[in-house]
Amino acid sequence: MADPFDVVVLGAGISGLSSARALAKRGLRVAVVERDVPGSHASSAAAGILVARGVVRSDVPGRMFYTRSLDGYEEWVRALASESGQELSLREGDDFCFFPPGGKADRFRQRLERESDPARWEELDAPPRALSCAARGGPWRVFRFAGERWCVPSDLLDVLLAAVERDGTLVVPNAGIPQVTDLGTTWKVVFAGGVIEAPVLLVSAGPWSGDVLRPLGWDANLVPVRGQLALVPRLHALDAMVHLEDTYYAVPRGDLTLVGATVEHGEWEENVTDRGLRELRHRLSSIFPELDLSRAVKVWAGLRPRSRDRVPHLGWLVPGRLLVASGHYRSGISMAPRTGEVVADLVTGRDAPDDVAQLSPLRSSGGYRRIP
Ligand SMILES: Cc1cc2nc3c(=O)[nH]c(=O)nc-3n(C[C@H](O)[C@H](O)[C@H](O)COP(=O)(O)OP(=O)(O)OC[C@H]3O[C@@H](n4cnc5c(N)ncnc54)[C@H](O)[C@@H]3O)c2cc1C
Repeated sequence: MADPFDVVVLGAGISGLSSARALAKRGLRVAVVERDVPGSHASSAAAGILVARGVVRSDVPGRMFYTRSLDGYEEWVRALASESGQELSLREGDDFCFFPPGGKADRFRQRLERESDPARWEELDAPPRALSCAARGGPWRVFRFAGERWCVPSDLLDVLLAAVERDGTLVVPNAGIPQVTDLGTTWKVVFAGGVIEAPVLLVSAGPWSGDVLRPLGWDANLVPVRGQLALVPRLHALDAMVHLEDTYYAVPRGDLTLVGATVEHGEWEENVTDRGLRELRHRLSSIFPELDLSRAVKVWAGLRPRSRDRVPHLGWLVPGRLLVASGHYRSGISMAPRTGEVVADLVTGRDAPDDVAQLSPLRSSGGYRRIP
């Protein structure tokens, strides 16, 4: 006989695990079925940047959801550390955003003027001295954001997984691709070595969410966007992040610097390519001419799950039965605390707040469609 679960989650990336934790905190019995090793895809490949950029108001779909998630991050991390019995902390420092003079810098500034607390950012006359020896290109327009945060996603995933398992949630690793059958009032999930039944199914399978949902009659409208990254010897002495045009970045990781990332739409292979590394070198050497990727201690790639309108899919596909939490694109690490809370709110019947309505997976602008 199948175990009595309230919710079965497919996918143990950060979206599935943060949801499982929040559901278990509300007293629900949760099982998570993971095709591979928990957290082994985008969620540990990520850079771990958690920039808030001082945003306090915005009509852009998803942006206030993102901001609210970051507001709760410190507390979430403290709770995970305490629940798992493992150490976990965030890093904090300045974030310097470099732009060549021109339209992109103007638009970036206009957006900050519209959306951000003026006390949280400034445009500098020149790059800071500690960076100017490394950052020799230019001329640059440089924006500084104080008190921004970043983390090491693989550490975060380890702690999150430990917290979820300590809570009594069943996490099934290396399950292969499960077969999912709709039995009317419950879902039957059959995988290598077991069967789980539950009345609610949450699909959090990253860019593969479409593969899970297609046999159930849904077209997910999701594409993978590959990102390639590298860890290189430290590029500068400041404990600060550097962004180039809000796309490429250099983030301190102990004695090393993480540099990333390419943005390759439609690529399903999670591999590093010569072309991708050349692109990273080409783009970031405009700020850091010394960047030498042949000295990288590690290179890797991950697939970001992107919806058509670049806004996450978070909500019911079939009310009370089939839920999706995916499509977090470049911000799934940042959005994890609030993703979990919202999933738990929806499953326990609470009303979703305004910032979540824009994320409905049934929205016309980029949501799921029934396969005719
Ligand atoms: C290069 C790169 C840099 C990034 N940097 C940042 C950053 O700095 N800050 C930030 O906030 N975000 C960042 N992101 C985005 C973030 O990593 C993602 O949005 C987030 O990890 C997505 O999490 P997920 O749980 O939805 O997907 P995933 O981590 O991909 O997890 C999905 C899981 O589902 C499993 N699965 C697939 N099919 C099935 C199935 N049929 N049954 C069961 N399980 C299945 C997979 O094996 C996988 O483990 C970055 C991403 C990349 C790739």
